[in-house]
Amino acid sequence: MSDETRPRRSIRIVTLYDDVMNVYADRGNVIALRARAAEHGVDAEVTPVSLGDPLPAETDLVLIGGGQDREQRRIAEDLAAHGPRLRGWADEGVAMLAICGGYQLFGQFYRDASGAELPGAGVFDVTTVAPGPGWPRCIGDMVVTSTLPGVGEVAGFENHGGRTYLGPTAQPFAMVDYGYGNNGDDGTEGARRDEAIGTYLHGSLLPKNPALLDHLIAAALRHREGPDSAPLASIPAPYAERAHATAVKVAKRRSRRVSRTS
Ligand code: GLN
Repeated sequence: MSDETRPRRSIRIVTLYDDVMNVYADRGNVIALRARAAEHGVDAEVTPVSLGDPLPAETDLVLIGGGQDREQRRIAEDLAAHGPRLRGWADEGVAMLAICGGYQLFGQFYRDASGAELPGAGVFDVTTVAPGPGWPRCIGDMVVTSTLPGVGEVAGFENHGGRTYLGPTAQPFAMVDYGYGNNGDDGTEGARRDEAIGTYLHGSLLPKNPALLDHLIAAALRHREGPDSAPLASIPAPYAERAHATAVKVAKRRSRRVSRTS
């Protein structure tokens, strides 16, 4: 079957509150997904969902970016109300990428710097608490090693006051090599369950981490097409690889190294 006659593959993407939660240009993640999907011959249909909007009946990939406490207070109740549907989507293998403030609100709750406890969507078994005034924020370039097969080293930038702790059923998205990660203490970064990923890595993250970008596209295709979904072809990403190498070099020069015994 020639390329022209082969039916185009497609994925459906929901972006949550990207008019509010877009600190550090996290909207770059959906731009990277559209572009890379097209390189793979996959059409991406994007549905923005913001305050007061209903979720669509189905999707294959959910994105939410980061935001300061003020923005998080604006969306927390609306997002928490979507919690049962989002948890159901995660259970059925919808791919998800939640960044920083969005990651915090995909957990059980986020107690912000003012002490207000914001309800989470409960996708991840994590809790986040912003320590009192005077505590340093976790700011800087980060390099982590993902626990996801085939993803490996991931680089980005973090800026958060909240410290996140994994609950008994949570798995880390990665282990920190340079930077702070979830809490600057236990060496974990982010969380994952099924095909959902939460992480503190801004950047934007996906334009400079092609292995993670392809991982998310493949997961969205598996949800859309079923377990027999054809694997993605290996397509070079020279610019993304150069951006990745630069981000890693900067982090290794500027950020604290986390030594791991195991
Ligand atoms: N407001 C949250 C914190 O300070 C998240 C910040 C962000 O999304 N960059 O921890």
